Amino acid sequence: GLFGEAYRRRHEITVTGDEVPPPLTSFETTGFPSEILKEVLNAGFSAPTPIQAQSWPIALQSRDIVAVAKTGSGKTLGYLIPGFIHLKRCCKDPRLGPTVLVLSPTRELATQIQVEAVKFGKSSRFSCTCLYGGAPKGPQLKELERGADIVVATPGRLNDILEMRRVSLSQVSYLVLDEADRMLDMGFEPQIRKIVKEVPARRQTLMYTATWPKEVRKIAADLLVNPVQVNIGNVDE
Ligand code: ADP
Ligand code: MG
Repeated sequence: GLFGEAYRRRHEITVTGDEVPPPLTSFETTGFPSEILKEVLNAGFSAPTPIQAQSWPIALQSRDIVAVAKTGSGKTLGYLIPGFIHLKRCCKDPRLGPTVLVLSPTRELATQIQVEAVKFGKSSRFSCTCLYGGAPKGPQLKELERGADIVVATPGRLNDILEMRRVSLSQVSYLVLDEADRMLDMGFEPQIRKIVKEVPARRQTLMYTATWPKEVRKIAADLLVNPVQVNIGNVDE
């Protein structure tokens, strides 16, 4: 409606895709389960950020998303909360492998995502394992064996563990490529493509990037199906 249009203009949100739902501009209108809403309010947040407001209703329709937004815009919860709701709907056994997989370029970023997943998923009792290089594999493999609903991983380490056949991605139905432009800059494209080959085609895929150059557009075209694109502010190519 008109209010949604005004909100988009005010926050420089542009959307491309069929019948894009209006932004959810307050937490009360999200319809999130109470245990998730509780954590968001506990964190002291007063309103969704623009990327959250616009990407939540799209993600909740189980559609693929490309979101182009600068660092610090709240992208992590933009994909984590719909991921939590996806997990609640699926109810899969985490011992068979993760349902939600988040790929992230660095150990530091992967760890920050895990911290947010644990904080905001606490009341929902989701388990989350973080896999990254520069640390021994043993403890990470042990954690995986106990089962994880959510795996946050750097592409290099996840690919190593896949080659060892110590994790199955056959249950993954919600795949996030966070900081896709940085992952490509760091040369992770071959690992990303190998990983995605192990994820069933019947999935929801969300790609987050700060910039929108040719290489990122190419991998988005290959890995996403009929995505809705959400841009916040001016988009750098
Ligand atoms: P990005 O991934 O876009 O760089 P983050 O997801 O890391 O951004 O979020 C940046 C900071 O904003 C984090 O500290 C996060 O906890 C905080 N944040 C997320 N959502 C909100 C919100 N709705 N209101 C206020 N702060 C938020
Ligand atoms: Mg981020």
